[in-house]
Amino acid sequence: MNAGNQPVVGRFAPSPTGAMHLGNARTALLAWLHTRAHGGRHLLRFEDLDTGRVRDWACDATRRDLEWLGLDWDAEYLQSERLELYAEVLARLATYPCTCTRKEIITAIQDSAGAPHGDEAVYPGLCRSGRGPDRPAAQRWRVPDETVCISDELTGETLCQHLRSEVGDFVLQRNDGVFAYHLAVVVDDAEMAVTDILRGTDLWTATPRQVALQQALGFSTPRYLHVPLMTDFRGERLAKRDGAPPVMALREAGESAGQVLSELARSLDFPPFNAVPDEISAADLIPAWREFGHFHPVKSLSQT
Ligand code: GLU
Ligand code: ZN
Repeated sequence: MNAGNQPVVGRFAPSPTGAMHLGNARTALLAWLHTRAHGGRHLLRFEDLDTGRVRDWACDATRRDLEWLGLDWDAEYLQSERLELYAEVLARLATYPCTCTRKEIITAIQDSAGAPHGDEAVYPGLCRSGRGPDRPAAQRWRVPDETVCISDELTGETLCQHLRSEVGDFVLQRNDGVFAYHLAVVVDDAEMAVTDILRGTDLWTATPRQVALQQALGFSTPRYLHVPLMTDFRGERLAKRDGAPPVMALREAGESAGQVLSELARSLDFPPFNAVPDEISAADLIPAWREFGHFHPVKSLSQT
């Protein structure tokens, strides 16, 4: 099921684990441009469930950076205020308690002579038919024995995964009670009526899992648009730990928002973003997104 021609609802969904760096800012910019180019409603959703990693100042800092860049939003949500909703939805899914440690899972995979598939170890289903030792349990979803396919509206790529053999039953609630990202993201995007998910390409391979959850819950599947992550001069992903400059550091160093936006636009390999002036406003870039959209027509979305 696709979103059809209803008004666009887009979102930027940062995890408030630190300062917003240029890589996050570029994704935030593109998500905003896409929503605004289609006259849509734009949401800001803080994905703050992983309390161990959340920094309490990061939401304020992110809001300030977005405002400074001129990337406004129409409504704001905090996932930590929505726990009841996740619990209700979780109860509708076929899950089972899993007490396995990471080590037990790896050992079981090695013993069965199965090499871990790709980067992620496929959970071999140890607790599928009954609970293990008496310790705090995670909740795993008994994934359907089906192949799930999803196409990206921007890249045109299609990804199919047989969840049972390629991903395995995945965790929807950790053994410390924290709801997993995959559950919260699916619940929120449906409940907030998000039609267009523009996000970093690092989440592309997680998309079939999320689509499978949508299908199991009877939610419609939004349009997905995955954009490249910002890379450094070596072509490596720019992330906080590699010293990607936080937006606030550039501001404090005296750069204008217009200059930062221009740098972000130029860092994209897409015409016409790579030919913008030295200083530009976010709104000035809306035509560039539209033009880009003509090179990469977003399927099933009438250009407005
Ligand atoms: N919170 C996720 C992140 O910051 C993004 C989730 C999403 O866009 O689906 O990586
Ligand atoms: Zn287990």
